[in-house]
Amino acid sequence: MKKHNFSAGPCILPETVFQEASQAILDYNNSGLSILEISHRSKDFVDVMEEARSLSLELLGLENKGYKALFLQGGASLEFLMVAYNLLEKKAAYLNTGTWADKAIKEAKLFGEVDVVASSENRNFNYIPKKYTVPEDADYFHCTSNNTIFGTQMKRFPKTSVPMVCDMSSDIFSREMDFSKFDLIYAGAQKNMGPAGTTLVIIKEDILGKVSRKIPAMLNYKSHIDKDSMYNTPAVYAVYISLLNLRWLKAQGGISGIEEKNKKKAQLIYSEIDINPLFKGFAAEEDRSKMNATFNLVKDSLKERFDKSWKDAGINGLTGHRSVGGYRASMYNALPLESVQILVDVMSDLERKA
Ligand SMILES: *Cc1c(COP(=O)(O)O)cnc(C)c1O
Repeated sequence: MKKHNFSAGPCILPETVFQEASQAILDYNNSGLSILEISHRSKDFVDVMEEARSLSLELLGLENKGYKALFLQGGASLEFLMVAYNLLEKKAAYLNTGTWADKAIKEAKLFGEVDVVASSENRNFNYIPKKYTVPEDADYFHCTSNNTIFGTQMKRFPKTSVPMVCDMSSDIFSREMDFSKFDLIYAGAQKNMGPAGTTLVIIKEDILGKVSRKIPAMLNYKSHIDKDSMYNTPAVYAVYISLLNLRWLKAQGGISGIEEKNKKKAQLIYSEIDINPLFKGFAAEEDRSKMNATFNLVKDSLKERFDKSWKDAGINGLTGHRSVGGYRASMYNALPLESVQILVDVMSDLERKA
């Protein structure tokens, strides 16, 4: 039986995507060939890459606005480094909202001065700092829209005159925003866009070419843009599955369609966390993530019972990250509302029988 999959990443994808992806391994487009054995320079695959790139921009409302979409490798973690390599000349401003932001900061420090404009480390990153200013002389400002581990999400972004870079790994394509406020967006595919193995980078071309250092070709955004994201062999299958997922998303009514569903899922879980005296939310209420809900049991003595109940109910991937403990329900785009209802039923059942 298919599990209710709350895994934080790699994560659930739509069943139809899994089916189409399986078929493409056996016979891609009735070509008599598997997608795994064709040249990445063949028309069949170039079409996949081009559609994936253009559909990404279309869904984000960024067509014809000077942006390029790339499907790279190395995960979001390589972007921590590439962003600084390509954009940091003297000083960059970073908002520290958790583990991933902290890693991005560490990489940027290899290339220049880093001004951490604010941090929520003092309360184990359970909130988003609000009062800070981004220095006008920074080469760029970097933030993390959704903090996968701590379950916080930025609801507002600062107005700045400097380029804005955002790690959207765990909430890209989940909510409507004016994406043109950002100059560079990156996201590892495996949280909300596809399988592990590729990273989407959306970049406004005019922010490039301003640093004086020499950049190795593979780490240079320009090389990848000039070769239409085919500078070297891309992660063919991961890009293809991402495309299937993006097509699925478009059929759901795009980002605005899926956002409605995501809101309902988040409302359902958070209202249970708030109403059920056996549970306590981890993240500050106003900063709660609609993708990853973090919560704890009030009494440790109930842990064994609760863990058995959700596992018996067919739920997978609810254990919290080791740096937070407790539980984390990741509710990415493909997770149905019914799965959240099953979890909520298990939680309220625990209260009734406690
Ligand atoms: C998972 C995650 C990363 C790291 O992604 P990799 O693809 O494993 O390098 C970075 N940022 C955020 C917000 C994440 O959730």
